[in-house]
Amino acid sequence: MTFRGWILYGSIFPRIFSCFYPVSGITLWPFICLRQTHEELHSSGRPVAQFINHEQIHIAQATEMCCIFMYILWVYDFVRGLMCISKRGFKCCVCRCDARVSYVWNRLEQEAFDHQHDMSYLERRPFCAWCSYPIAEIARQWLGKMGRLSRDSDSGSEDSSIELEEP
Ligand SMILES: [Zn+2]
Repeated sequence: MTFRGWILYGSIFPRIFSCFYPVSGITLWPFICLRQTHEELHSSGRPVAQFINHEQIHIAQATEMCCIFMYILWVYDFVRGLMCISKRGFKCCVCRCDARVSYVWNRLEQEAFDHQHDMSYLERRPFCAWCSYPIAEIARQWLGKMGRLSRDSDSGSEDSSIELEEP
């Protein structure tokens, strides 16, 4: 049985890590730290099960990478994304410094995004499944979803949860 972490609601850590963009949750193994309280989250209208499943995939990644290597890889991918991602993919020293683009190209985030809808994924997840990422199509899908949510937000829709989740 896969260890899925312990959830802390109403945590201060997502606020602390919100220097680049609003962060709604962060996985600090063995804890999943969520900004909102249990009540706020479940009344927010966002897909809570998917959100938590996303974070639990990060717990599985951290567990198999002795925690520290997962965070090193996450930061490496994030910095590389800030420096070396063009509109069409990897390109040396583009320096767009776009945190959202860097986030969706992060291989650990891509695995979590790609399977967050699948509630049984963790029961059959291959070891180091993140090795199959990043994939340009997933980055495009994710950016498209962010764009849609952002437009929905502008037009007053309730589904305005474009906040990101850290590892
Ligand atoms: Zn994530």
